[in-house]
Formats: sequence, structure tokens, C-alpha cells
Amino acid sequence: MKLRGELQENVSMGDFCSWRTGGEAKRLYRPEDAEDLALFLSGLPENEPLLWVGLGSNLLVRDGGFNGTVIVTKNRLLEMRFMENGILRAEAGVTCAKIARICAREGFTGLEFFAGIPGTVGGALAMNAGAFGSETWEHVEAVETIDRQGQIHRRSPDEYRVAYRHVEGKEGEWFLAAEFCLENGDVDEAQEKIRALLDKRSATQPTNQATCGSTFRNPDNDYAARLIEEAGLKGFAIGGAMVSEKHANFIVNQGDATAADIEQLIAHVQTTVEELNGIQLVPEVHVVGDPS
Ligand SMILES: Cc1cc2nc3c(=O)[nH]c(=O)nc-3n(C[C@H](O)[C@H](O)[C@H](O)COP(=O)(O)OP(=O)(O)OC[C@H]3O[C@@H](n4cnc5c(N)ncnc54)[C@H](O)[C@@H]3O)c2cc1C
Repeated sequence: MKLRGELQENVSMGDFCSWRTGGEAKRLYRPEDAEDLALFLSGLPENEPLLWVGLGSNLLVRDGGFNGTVIVTKNRLLEMRFMENGILRAEAGVTCAKIARICAREGFTGLEFFAGIPGTVGGALAMNAGAFGSETWEHVEAVETIDRQGQIHRRSPDEYRVAYRHVEGKEGEWFLAAEFCLENGDVDEAQEKIRALLDKRSATQPTNQATCGSTFRNPDNDYAARLIEEAGLKGFAIGGAMVSEKHANFIVNQGDATAADIEQLIAHVQTTVEELNGIQLVPEVHVVGDPS
């Protein structure tokens, strides 16, 4: 069998990450479909480092790049269908926004919170993405994963340790698809809820700038944004990276930020907040790759 996807070499990850910066991936593969992905994975050397990327909206690739193969699911793995009993099966590359929109249109509720999360199903499963009191894994009935040999597995949520923006499970397997459990609801109500959630976001977040959303997880019983603002860091910049004036937990690439600028700003925020009130902020964003 022949590969049908797209393989590129030395690709800037700034083009695949919402911070719009980052080093190069040695190789980058965009599979045509799940079967093609399985074939590609089965042909890789056993020790080839692998990085999966959806919309790159929670990912910083250091300036020295990623010395391995990046699998990009954006605009790939896009199958989505409603099954029996209010179950939706969606492949890893389907965007959260599309799921929210289509579920609402079909009169299913539960996933409206997906509307403003600029990620894919794969990224939402890996991060346990959530918003406005709801989280991805609360709605997962089952997932399909793929391993390095291209074998596909069906797994149930109780095979994973799922926490706030954190998921641990099967080492050496990546998410290929998910089945979400939905409830019957009212189309107008669901669509109105989505509109309200999106309005709330654009009022409080710098949604039209290059960011990765919330940089840090919220500590127990507090908010990272509140702590960063209290530390006087709104508007503080290192190189081209700046703590957003609109939402202190967002770091904005003002245009020419390097990944190192962003990483240094993350470290500066952590140190400043810890010195002020002893709280260690834990990054929500995943930082990978080699320093330059
Ligand atoms: C403006 C803005 C607002 C945001 N708001 C929210 C919010 O309200 N709530 C929230 O939770 N997040 C939010 N985020 C962060 C981000 O959108 C979510 O974490 C999202 O789930 C990431 O999805 P992605 O497809 O972009 O993942 P990526 O950023 O591409 O990847 C994130 C991690 O998941 C891994 N991964 C990706 N695909 C797979 C796969 N198929 N299998 C296994 N691992 C995989 C990657 O290797 C990486 O470690 C926001 C980001 C932005 C820019």
C-alpha cells in the first residue's frame, strides 16, 4: 500500500501553533485518513520521537524545533456522525467549535461549552479541555486510540486518570476518535447558550490575538488571572511576548515573539507570583522541543 498523506521536512511550527511562533519540525505528516495514518505510523523507526498537533492552541514548540515527526490532524481525520442513543462519534481532527454548532443544530445538548475552545477533539481529549463549568471527559462514552504500530484500540474512560486540564492513560497511544454522550434538548436554547458563551469570551479574552488561551491552570480555590493581575504583571513584556491587558492569564505574541520570549515570560510570572503570595502557578500549555 502507498501513503496518501502529505510529508514535509523542516517545517516552521509557528504556522501550526496559535502563538504563531516556534522552531521547525524535522518532519511533519498530514494523514489522508485513519487508514493512511496507521500505515505511516507502522513504517516509522521504533524510536522516532512523535508529537501530535491539532490546532496547536495549547502548544509551544521551542525555537530549536522538534527533532522528530509531527503528526498534524488539523483539517484531517474529519469524520463525524450521530449514532444511536444520542452518541456522537467524531474523529480527532474535528474542531470543538464544529461539534458545538452541529450538536446544537440537531437538538443535542451538553457540548455547547466546546463552542469557544479553538481546538480539535484530539487536543480536547489530551487536555480535558473545559469551560464554564463543563469538561470534555464528562461527556466521553469511549475513545479510539492508535499506537505506533498503527493498531487501533477502543478504550473506556475508566482506563484514564482524568483531572483538571490533565489526562494520563495509555503511554504510546494517541487519540483517533471519541464517542460523546449527548442529551436531547431544544435547538433554540442550545444555540442561545452558545451565543452567550461566545459573547462572554470576547468581552473578557483577547480572542483576536495570537495566544494559547490560559497559560496557567487555576490553583485550588483561586484564579491564575487574579494572582497575575495582583502581582502587577498586566502589560509586562519580555521581547515580543506580553501579559495581556485584557486577561492576565493570557500571554500575547505581539508579532515578533520567539518561543524563548514566551517561556521566559512564563517563568517570570511564576517567580513573581510565588514571591508575592507563595503560590506556584502550573502551566496549562505544553512546552516541547529543543531550546535554540
Ligand atoms: C483563545 C483561546 C481560548 C482558549 N480557551 C480554552 C478554554 O476555554 N478551555 C480550555 O480547556 N482550553 C482553552 N484553550 C486552549 C486550547 O484551545 C485547548 O487546550 C484545546 O483543547 C487544544 O486543542 P488542540 O487541538 O489545539 O491541541 P494542541 O494544542 O494541538 O495540542 C495540545 C496537546 O494535546 C496533544 N494532542 C493533540 N492532539 C492529540 C491526539 N490526537 N492524541 C493525543 N494527544 C494529542 C498535543 O501533543 C499537545 O500535548 C484556549 C486557547 C485559545 C488560543
